[in-house]
Amino acid sequence: MVIAIDGTSASGKSTNAKLVAKALGYVYVDTGAMYRTLAWHCLRSGVDVHDPKAVTAVLRRWKTRLICVDGEVQLLVDGYYPAKEIRTAETSAAVPHVSAIPKVREWMVRRQQSCTQFGNLVMEGRDIGTNVFPETDFKFYLDASLEERTRRREADGISEDLAKRDKRDSERKAAPLMIPLGAVVVNNSGQTPKQTSEFILGEIRRRLAARG
Ligand code: C5P
Repeated sequence: MVIAIDGTSASGKSTNAKLVAKALGYVYVDTGAMYRTLAWHCLRSGVDVHDPKAVTAVLRRWKTRLICVDGEVQLLVDGYYPAKEIRTAETSAAVPHVSAIPKVREWMVRRQQSCTQFGNLVMEGRDIGTNVFPETDFKFYLDASLEERTRRREADGISEDLAKRDKRDSERKAAPLMIPLGAVVVNNSGQTPKQTSEFILGEIRRRLAARG
């Protein structure tokens, strides 16, 4: 079982995916964190994120491992999970460049698909319902107004041009951000995470009951 949660930046994917995973007892996978980890690793190793060949070469060199800790999957680099480092403004600005590289996406998608080794999944990202697990019957697409999403990031102490990142993610050739076919679209402007996650859980339970 895979629940796919895609959507724009700061649309509440992480918060809601975690709540849904917890309620169902599924494993939570943040695929954005995986792309962020590669961007961070390139920055700290002096690799130009605008150079697809250089970034692709990193994929052959870096020493990574996927683990599951307390119901959450982590991608370790040299045995380390850079939880804080991947959230900086510098990493956020670099990540759409590495995530647009087709070879990077191939590498990531293979690892993301392999996460089923840890159990049933709630996986969030930009291409989960379209590309990573297109066959799942449980697809959600989250969005909220730009003003509200910007406010949410600012409340986390991060000031970022979200529209610019969404534009890059939506306009790239390789697996762009889009609403997956058959996805339930949830605009959660003005909603609390409890309201959004309960709506998602309700949809999942309704579909599971319809399956019998
Ligand atoms: O979700 P988050 O904001 O952490 O994602 C960071 C970036 O990683 C996105 O802006 C996008 O460039 C990339 N990403 C992606 N495909 C995914 C998840 C994230 O391209 N499935």
